Amino acid sequence: MVAEEIHLNPFLIENGIECLESDLGEFIVQLDHDEPSHIVRPIIHKNRREIANTFLREKIAPDYNDDPETITRRARVHLREKYFLAQAGITGANFVSAESGRLVLVTNEGNARFGMAPVPLHIAVVGIEKIVPRDRDLALLLNLLGRSATGQQLTVYTQFINGPRSESQPSGPEHMHVVFLDNGRTDVLASNCSEILRCIRCSACQNVCPVYRQASGHAYRSPYGGPVGAVLSPILFGQRFPELADLPKASSLCGACQEVCPVDIPIPDLLLRLRDKGKKEKAPSRGAPPMAPFATLGSSPLFWRTAMTMSKAMNHLPIHVAPVAPLRNWLDQRTLPEWRGGNFRKWLRNRNSNSAT
Ligand code: SF4
Repeated sequence: MVAEEIHLNPFLIENGIECLESDLGEFIVQLDHDEPSHIVRPIIHKNRREIANTFLREKIAPDYNDDPETITRRARVHLREKYFLAQAGITGANFVSAESGRLVLVTNEGNARFGMAPVPLHIAVVGIEKIVPRDRDLALLLNLLGRSATGQQLTVYTQFINGPRSESQPSGPEHMHVVFLDNGRTDVLASNCSEILRCIRCSACQNVCPVYRQASGHAYRSPYGGPVGAVLSPILFGQRFPELADLPKASSLCGACQEVCPVDIPIPDLLLRLRDKGKKEKAPSRGAPPMAPFATLGSSPLFWRTAMTMSKAMNHLPIHVAPVAPLRNWLDQRTLPEWRGGNFRKWLRNRNSNSAT
């Protein structure tokens, strides 16, 4: 996630360094010049047919085969070759213990471990919020992460890295560098939303969020989607991308995110604080128009009745040849459902008169 955040891969490629994602999902994202849409499942927006086509196009597979096991095996053969040629392995870290300096990395594919074994250099890029005080905190946090991210008691591979390889070790990097990344995190710490730094990136809040589940991660225009992204992105990247200030509005405030969050981050409260801040700073708004016209419509019975009657006419209007370009573009991709509203009052009147007789 941190590499996505600082656009590390495009920077390295621009500078003539071949760089390859080793996580299967991230690898597919890279092949498609796409972006991840979920913290733990980066290609949740793709299906196996799309992936099989990508492999065929990129000549990773000799023929089209959309069997998930075959896709995985083919990716493994391709990546395995690259591991042995690599000059450096770049990882993040899920946690770093301040007590021992241990770096903790969890994966379900073993890619971090495999990627580090043959390379002479290991570089870890780690957000400063990943530092935990003591080794013994790791037991709890690793358990919380596995359970909340994928329902596992523990992820399949959990690596504790103490430094470059020792003389007694047969393989591993000879050199290791750890880069601690701030990138706005101290601003978050100083803000009234500092609780979000407790996030362990388990994605549980994304999985339950009704907005994320409809909109998908790309709608959040940041590596961090869903409820955590709606809080984190405007604070981390708001200076450069002020339009992200509209993300806290993308929530029904149902509270499901806080309920599942293993570290009990009060996400709905944080979203309200950010909305308040955006209002005070008159942050730019994107997307849906303000609710004021709807409030006027909804609070006047006369306006409401007129609008309901007129809305029936929509079924007969040639909307698909709408002269307004944004509406036409929108309708090119969607079928407007037939208007069936406006009958409630009639139904209630009939019901009342029937029950009276
Ligand atoms: S905010 Fe909580 S639930 Fe969401 S990713 Fe972070 S730790 Fe997980």
